[in-house]
Amino acid sequence: MEPVDRRDFIKTVAGTAAVASLEGRGAVAAEAGPVFLSTWIWGKAANERAAEVLKGGGSLLDAIEKGINIPENDPNVMTVGYGGLPNAEGVVELDAAIMDGTRHRAGSVCNLHMIKNPISVARLVMEKTRHTTLAGEGAFRFALKMGFEPQTLLTPQSLQKWQEWKADPHHKTFWLSPDNHDTIGMVGTDGKGHFVAGCSTSGSAYKIPGRVGDSPLIGCGVYADDNVGAASATGDGDLMTNYCTSVSIVHLMARGASPQDACMELLRHMVKTDPQNKDGGVAVIAMNTRGEIGAASMNEAFHLKYALWRDGQSQLLDSVKLI
Ligand code: ASP
Repeated sequence: MEPVDRRDFIKTVAGTAAVASLEGRGAVAAEAGPVFLSTWIWGKAANERAAEVLKGGGSLLDAIEKGINIPENDPNVMTVGYGGLPNAEGVVELDAAIMDGTRHRAGSVCNLHMIKNPISVARLVMEKTRHTTLAGEGAFRFALKMGFEPQTLLTPQSLQKWQEWKADPHHKTFWLSPDNHDTIGMVGTDGKGHFVAGCSTSGSAYKIPGRVGDSPLIGCGVYADDNVGAASATGDGDLMTNYCTSVSIVHLMARGASPQDACMELLRHMVKTDPQNKDGGVAVIAMNTRGEIGAASMNEAFHLKYALWRDGQSQLLDSVKLI
């Protein structure tokens, strides 16, 4: 794919839905078989669970939700769910989103406390309400109404880390600079033309209470469209939100870019608009209706290892770096 300049990029993003449907891209998905693509090393177990759920007769939404539940439940994954690092006041605030590419419907939660599976709550927001996003106390009360059990999400490990940060007189705060990212982002297809994207995170460690990252914002952390494919993002959400990362990648694919080219083009666009972005923590994954995949990181300092499940094979791979 030819590099896209800024004006072309904007035109690209503006004119895509029509192109996607004209090209009828959904038609070839059936040939690809189920494929699951996730961020970071814990994505491997998540993909394997998703594949198992789908094979056992679950829907693609079940597969993505149950897959993401794996790192959410794992106290050793300190950036997602139970055991995720807390905000500056020591409270674990979780964000998650899920999008169904068939109905073009999504659900998300922001700043959810005391509930370890925000992706499951996000799915219920999508399925049981007319809303797309619930935040904070309202999201918590909705989760209780749906039968989720409140529990402390701090583990001895995450509490100790927060206490060390708090006690350090020189600790960095988000009034100045960001720190620590690693969402689980996941995109999957059932191989029958259906796409779902989901992500779940505790967000930036020691964030200012109430901060919402890119993960629960539809089009930023996740995007799925059965006509084209799906994408997800991980990294500095305060930066990536300004680029509507996932929807931009899906729209580039709708214009004909391969998933890898679309991921790289988005990163190039970020650097073109602000050269400082080359030092940013930015990584993205994408998949199209042919089951082709892409994974890219901005730089070596934030180099994404991603997980791919296809044809019964579960692998961990290195993303392509822009810089
Ligand atoms: N993007 C997430 C956020 O900024 C964090 C991450 O992906 O690691 O909240």
